[in-house]
Amino acid sequence: MYERILHTWEMLDASAVVQIAILAAAIFLLLQFLGRSRGMGVVRAFGLVVVGIFLSAQILVSFFNLTVVGRILDYLLATMLLALLVIFQPELRRGLMWLGKYGVLYAITSSGKRPIVDKLSDAATVLSGQFVGALIAIEREVPLTVYIETGTRIDAQISPLLIQAVFQKQSPLHDGAMIISNGRIVAAGCQLPLSPIEVSSKNSHGMRHRAALGTSEETDSILIVVSEETGRISLASAGQLEVVPRESLFRRLAELLESESSGERSNKETKQKIQETDRVA
Ligand code: ATP
Ligand code: MG
Repeated sequence: MYERILHTWEMLDASAVVQIAILAAAIFLLLQFLGRSRGMGVVRAFGLVVVGIFLSAQILVSFFNLTVVGRILDYLLATMLLALLVIFQPELRRGLMWLGKYGVLYAITSSGKRPIVDKLSDAATVLSGQFVGALIAIEREVPLTVYIETGTRIDAQISPLLIQAVFQKQSPLHDGAMIISNGRIVAAGCQLPLSPIEVSSKNSHGMRHRAALGTSEETDSILIVVSEETGRISLASAGQLEVVPRESLFRRLAELLESESSGERSNKETKQKIQETDRVA
């Protein structure tokens, strides 16, 4: 038995390690994806039990050279994969559609910010199609409390329909900005600081765009502006306003939100400085 373990250990070359790593990553990603859509605990526990049983069985098969059991296990694995395909057909279909929509890169670099980005881009795209003006500020490190207080407090989940409803002309809250904080809509009808920069006549902006620019200059928040006049969608961050085509909105917004905010950067710098000081001391 001891010799067998030693033998298995000796057989473990670089390619085996790579294969194990690929398998582990694939199983992890699959469980993560399935776990998000169905009773998380049940799916994960089920997956772990199945993977555990198969790994133990494979080890036993290779230790004791059980070729017949090994073959049966191979057949069983193929059947189980088919069964999984059938059971999780709706999730797989959704996953493939999602991959088609956003590309492989976004599937790999998954993050908790995606649902927010998804809903905000959906809402802005619809509003832009309807030529309904909108201004949404997404708070990051720098608190937007002073601006939240100028509007009406809301505490709601981000929903494209709710955002569309708020910005319709008939809505009493359509004037001003909506503020998103910690993944929730926290206020609407807020007054944001206007950018003092006088923009050239060619690119002259009205109040909505100037408020977006101004807030991005004063804070590290990201702002989405939908122009009532042109239907164009713009994003403001770090004192820059860029028009973003509807089809690239999701990607660009995700990029901006995932980029380091000034607050995070200064936190890191402070930590680095403290570490350096400690080292010197
Ligand atoms: P659009 O392209 O939609 O016309 P714009 O940049 O030309 O936008 P205005 O036409 O001046 O801007 O838009 C006026 C609207 O902008 C107001 O009705 C109000 O909802 C909003 N707004 C104006 N000032 C502020 C402010 N300080 N903070 C938040 N929103 C503001
Ligand atoms: Mg205007």
